[in-house]
Amino acid sequence: MKVYADFEIRDELWYKIGGKVRYLIDVAGKEDIKKAFELLKKEKIKKFFFLGLGSNLIFTDEYFDGAVIRFIPSSSPIRLVKLHIVEADAGAVLDDVINFAFDHNLVGLEWAGGLPGQVGAAIRGNVGAFGGEIKDSVKKLEVFEVVNNTPRFKILRRFELQFSYRNSIVKKKKLGVLSAQFRLTPEDQATVNRARQTYLNNIEYRKIRHPLEYPNCGSVFKNLAIPEHIERVLEVFPDLEEKIKRDWHGKVAMGYLIKRLDLSEYRVGDAMISPKHCNFIVNLGNAKASDVTAIIKVVQEKFLEVFDFVPEVEVEIVN
Ligand SMILES: Cc1cc2nc3c(=O)[nH]c(=O)nc-3n(C[C@H](O)[C@H](O)[C@H](O)COP(=O)(O)OP(=O)(O)OC[C@H]3O[C@@H](n4cnc5c(N)ncnc54)[C@H](O)[C@@H]3O)c2cc1C
Repeated sequence: MKVYADFEIRDELWYKIGGKVRYLIDVAGKEDIKKAFELLKKEKIKKFFFLGLGSNLIFTDEYFDGAVIRFIPSSSPIRLVKLHIVEADAGAVLDDVINFAFDHNLVGLEWAGGLPGQVGAAIRGNVGAFGGEIKDSVKKLEVFEVVNNTPRFKILRRFELQFSYRNSIVKKKKLGVLSAQFRLTPEDQATVNRARQTYLNNIEYRKIRHPLEYPNCGSVFKNLAIPEHIERVLEVFPDLEEKIKRDWHGKVAMGYLIKRLDLSEYRVGDAMISPKHCNFIVNLGNAKASDVTAIIKVVQEKFLEVFDFVPEVEVEIVN
């Protein structure tokens, strides 16, 4: 375990936005987690936040008067536990899990090529892309619940995980993920090679479509999945019916809608809606969290005006 006091968090996060935190505590396993919460108890700190790679967060510019508990990989963060079962620490990078699987002739996670982040966060938010979702491969989890600054560890099986769109029991019950087991599919070399190609294609697709040349926090808004919201959009843009079925897996892509509402390149300070993908708000250099949240508000107000509902924010705002 490593502890950093009064730490400037900005440079640790994908977005390069955020103020100081009272403590940043790096943990690599169960014993570290126990020690971290002992420190919190000793210092009477109630407020804590789990951090992975920080690729889906906006840390505000204000002082975070609590502990940021960051998961880092242990010395062997990914393990083969059975022929087709891979176990990974929460702090393992998802991309490393995919490549570990390929190296063991296992497929099933290739849809996640280029999706940033660690295993713990991926499970919490049931990440998904190109029609795939992490929930389809999760066998069981070791999680912990924090009660009075004491972590209580337990195993959760697949049927207990309550996965839904960008949601899980981990998010609903504010649990911490310690490790996860994935059930993957053993395949012959030719099939593994094809899966690897899909993975590489997905990375390439993201490079072309996503504004990775600037710090960003991924998609700011959730794509629209609520039938009533989709109906409202279709009332205004009836031509989208075909696209929703054919290209967007039954949802409405927020990036497309934001562009169609003429908000591409809308800028506050150094934060700007990316013209490359309008569901991304990029940091052009010295953006403040307040610049980003000001843009979020403008998008929400525009949606309210045009469609009579407020789109849900996917990215998490921390403070
Ligand atoms: C360029 C880009 C593209 C993206 N594309 C996609 C996409 O296609 N699909 C998609 O679903 N997401 C996408 N995202 C979002 C992001 O990849 C996911 O949300 C990812 O799971 C975040 O991982 P992280 O390690 O960075 O988590 P962080 O951003 O550090 O944390 C995210 C959340 O997880 C919590 N958390 C972290 N570790 C743990 C743990 N061990 N236990 C419990 N909670 C924990 C944090 O408290 C926080 O609430 C994209 C992001 C970027 C920047």
